[in-house]
Amino acid sequence: MLNLILFGPPGSGKGTQAAKLVEKYQLIHISTGDLLRSEITNETALGLEAKSFMDKGHLVPDEVVIGMISSKLDDNPTAAGFIFDGFPRTIAQAEALDNLLEFKEAPIRALIEIKVGEEELKKRLLERGKTSGRPDDQNLEVITNRIQVYRRETSPVANFYSSQDKHIEVYGEGTIDDIFNSLCAVIDKLA
Ligand code: AMP
Repeated sequence: MLNLILFGPPGSGKGTQAAKLVEKYQLIHISTGDLLRSEITNETALGLEAKSFMDKGHLVPDEVVIGMISSKLDDNPTAAGFIFDGFPRTIAQAEALDNLLEFKEAPIRALIEIKVGEEELKKRLLERGKTSGRPDDQNLEVITNRIQVYRRETSPVANFYSSQDKHIEVYGEGTIDDIFNSLCAVIDKLA
């Protein structure tokens, strides 16, 4: 099993690249942001609870997202592997993920961090907000908050996997294809 974390701040291109990578490597894409947005669209109780956090650019509580990941793993018992996108975002989530994967005897192989400068992130998110329909992409204050939350609460997850010797960095500015090729070069060395 090839289990990867695609890591990086909001707007670093994780979703775009994950969609291309799952096709090439036949993996399952798990995006907690997408799962949460689908809960909101379906007007579930979970979606209603999550929306108030997401609209402000805050993190949804750990137990909510960990529960979603656990059922997604159970739904795909024969998967060749998973690409986690937007998860884990806290150390508690990383510990929970490691525990879930331990049962499958298929630990995370690598956390691949896509590095993008802050000005570029803001530019990309505002641009995406024109078409994504996402309220959290349409307000500079919320965007800035999401980037701050990333630096404060999420970036320690990279150190968590560095200490397991699994942290790899890829330069994330340039064309989608350039970045995809850099990611493939890294993944081909792991596979
Ligand atoms: P994303 O689509 O990954 O940019 O996520 C959009 C929003 O969903 C985030 O700003 C958070 O409010 C929430 N979210 C997504 N994934 C997580 C997670 N792993 N932990 C907590 N909140 C999350």
